[in-house]
Amino acid sequence: MTPDGGELWRLALEHSPVGMTLVGLDGRLMVVNHALCDMLGYDAETLTTKGFQELTHPDDLDSDLELFRQALDGQIDSYRITKRYLHADGRIVWGDLSVALVKQADGSPLLFISQILDITELERERRTLEAIFDTVNVGLLLIDPDGRYRRMNRRHQDYMRVTFPDGHDGAAGQLGHVYFPDGTPMQREDMPSYRAVQGEEFDGLWYWVGADPRTRSALSTSARTIRDPSGAMTGAVLAYQDITDLMRALEVKEDFVASVSHELRTPLTALLGYLELLREGDDLPASARHGLEVMHRNAGRLQLLVSDLLDVAQAREGSLELHRTEVDLVDLVCEVVESARTAADSADLTLGTDVPEALVAHVDGGRIRQVLDNLVLNAVKYTEPGGSVVVALRRDGDDAVLTVTDTGIGMTADEVEHAFNRFFRGDGALQREIPGTGLGLNIASSIVEAHGGKLTLESEPSVGSTFTVLLPGMPVER
Ligand code: ADP
Repeated sequence: MTPDGGELWRLALEHSPVGMTLVGLDGRLMVVNHALCDMLGYDAETLTTKGFQELTHPDDLDSDLELFRQALDGQIDSYRITKRYLHADGRIVWGDLSVALVKQADGSPLLFISQILDITELERERRTLEAIFDTVNVGLLLIDPDGRYRRMNRRHQDYMRVTFPDGHDGAAGQLGHVYFPDGTPMQREDMPSYRAVQGEEFDGLWYWVGADPRTRSALSTSARTIRDPSGAMTGAVLAYQDITDLMRALEVKEDFVASVSHELRTPLTALLGYLELLREGDDLPASARHGLEVMHRNAGRLQLLVSDLLDVAQAREGSLELHRTEVDLVDLVCEVVESARTAADSADLTLGTDVPEALVAHVDGGRIRQVLDNLVLNAVKYTEPGGSVVVALRRDGDDAVLTVTDTGIGMTADEVEHAFNRFFRGDGALQREIPGTGLGLNIASSIVEAHGGKLTLESEPSVGSTFTVLLPGMPVER
């Protein structure tokens, strides 16, 4: 026989995986299903002798009673809370409780229908995650799409106190004691949380926080956006790692390198001078001459290295001085290309130029030459035989634009991102054992920036690279 509608409902309630009960106006459980009996560890007969008050954890009783009272008073028709129940064996069961009031025809309350979902497992997991959230040694911050701070862990609260000693209004982009690695204060657009709200994702953004330079902390920050299934941004997560020790160690290393290279320069210059004098003598035996040549070559390399290290130190301190004069960049390109010709020939590369008649700019000729030398020699170093290198110069409005394009080994996107960092060397360079220090591009970009310009790079592995030097506002008509 097929059960009728009412019987079907009874069966559905009885076998529902969610705990269900009908509760009288005094709070007694009048009818209970299997799931609720399992959840609380009683048989139906015993459970229906109890009121929800005695099944509820004492700490959660007041809030439940208050809502129960509001429903009875007709202020609300239903409510939903997370609360703790007491299992027959004394343990705690977490429940997600939904309650609806059923009324009689005249509107007076009849009984309550309650559904209780056992969320003990979920709650345990949530608490575990919560504990991890607060224990990890990384500051964590969750922001909504409007930039309001939603949640942060304890570690991040520590960083907030250092960064905003006068308090924070809870929205991204507030200015505080935040400084770039070189010490300049960050503006709103540069602030990590502000950038994250714009939908930017980044890793390893290094900066200082704290008012006092002697005690401030260095942080490395990463950001990821959170999106809903339709792709709309629903927030962002930022992770902050303390890298103060690393930053301090790097400073010490750089100061050390700067002072050592400074000290090395004087004896090296003397050595090179005397070696040059000796080479001029024509009464030397052949074996001594060979030895002298090797010494001279190596002392020369050492001098280049030392001057690179000094340039890096000067650029870091911002003391890279420029001696600007009117320089025809076309002459400069031609000189650089001519002096790289021998290296290009022996590497079996074609080396060409694409330049106008003349383009005079107000720049430090020696320094711009150093930049071009570096770019062209790199292009020659990092291009396989049979390839080509082209140096082009053009005027673009008030800017002079120099490009060095090669058909060489190229770089991956990740390498491009780090190419201008001090001591960076790409995998291609290391695997092929091409000599270098990883300082050239860093110096070149500092020189271009000291001119108010920009050095940029586009590259693709096995296709080639293009370095572009933009020197703004300087070309002068002859
Ligand atoms: P160095 O050449 O002494 O290693 P640089 O600072 O000039 O130092 O260059 C840094 C790194 O960038 C190089 O080690 C190399 O991996 C990569 N690189 C520079 N120029 C090129 C280029 N034209 N093609 C491919 N890779 C290059």
